[in-house]
Amino acid sequence: MTERLSVDYMALEAAHSSGVYAKRALTIVRGEGAYLWDAEGNRYIDCVGGQGAANVGHCHPKVVAAIQAQAGVLLSCPELFYNDQRALLLQKLTRLAAMPRAFLCNSGAEAVEAALKFAKFATKRTEVVATMRGFHGRTMGALSATWEPKYREPFAPLVPNYQHVPFNDLAAAEAAITEQTAAVLVEVVQGEGGVRPADGDYLRGLQALCRERGALFIVDEVQTGFGRTGRMFAHQHYALAPDLMPVAKSIAGGVPFGACLIGERVGALQPAIHGTTFGGNPLGCAAALAAIDVLIEEDLSARAAALGDFLMARLGDLPRRFRAQVREVRGLGLLFGIELRGKVAPVLKALQARGVLALPAGLNVLRLLPPLVIAQADLEQVARAIESVLEELGAAAIE
Ligand code: PMP
Repeated sequence: MTERLSVDYMALEAAHSSGVYAKRALTIVRGEGAYLWDAEGNRYIDCVGGQGAANVGHCHPKVVAAIQAQAGVLLSCPELFYNDQRALLLQKLTRLAAMPRAFLCNSGAEAVEAALKFAKFATKRTEVVATMRGFHGRTMGALSATWEPKYREPFAPLVPNYQHVPFNDLAAAEAAITEQTAAVLVEVVQGEGGVRPADGDYLRGLQALCRERGALFIVDEVQTGFGRTGRMFAHQHYALAPDLMPVAKSIAGGVPFGACLIGERVGALQPAIHGTTFGGNPLGCAAALAAIDVLIEEDLSARAAALGDFLMARLGDLPRRFRAQVREVRGLGLLFGIELRGKVAPVLKALQARGVLALPAGLNVLRLLPPLVIAQADLEQVARAIESVLEELGAAAIE
């Protein structure tokens, strides 16, 4: 510990990091389950959850053991060969998703990028319909589908023929989806866009429009997948059958990994139209095999549903109790959002001082993405910390 403290990690990062991240003054050095520790040894309840990558908890022993075992056997194996771990993962993942094939990659943006390319290739069409407040990643194709102007504007021109329609507005989508539309891209709950759940009728309507007009239906489950919302995949709440489903974040228990699940309507893809060196690497596949087993064995989807209900019962009346500060509380399972009337930054800072790490979703929404293994008693402590911060900030506003 003394050795750790003698190095100023924050200064090192600040001096040499790209500059594209706004960081908090906190150096995290260790994690276990739903807890994180900083370099001074302080423990935090983690409601950042690796920004969605830690659903099975930090350093889950089964994931750690799988990584350790595979690390001594084979690390690199591009998809010009077959591989035992990859074969087993493809079987497990496609069964889990009830979709026949998958393209393996390394991140959410890559999984979305693959979905968009496959949709264009399969339909021979060029147009993409996405939604306002949607977030799909920051590579050029995924960014073109992302709505937030401050992410997009510095990088214009983006990929042509993308349009954004109002979320949860089926009539607007109906007007936008044409015989030229390759794909419609939507999240079941908009995560980065403010924790906004879609209506079931809206999603079913989008799927039907896609079928009717020959477009492919892409459901981006990068943030909502792997138990987060109370089902293994959020679209299962509404019995949807996406044609393409990008996933990433928690797929491999915290190791960088992604996948684009591919449905029957996509048809045959051809060698060389897409690919990536690390896609389907044995280390990531072994980690993903273990992480998916943990999700199933520990029934973490059901746990997320129950804990989500607990949080909603506990905090659902914040807009009434803290009328001056809270506009709305919403979410699905353990993808939980509290929309504030003011900025979320001071709330995050005050929560950190109380030992709770949480996320924003835009400027005004407090987002909680705890590992699904979090204890209910810890969520109760999070709820108390939020109440106490709102009380403190409310008192400050009156002064
Ligand atoms: N899609 C969604 C719905 C996301 O929430 C994110 C990440 N927040 C992405 C895509 C991009 O994933 P990554 O950061 O791994 O590129």
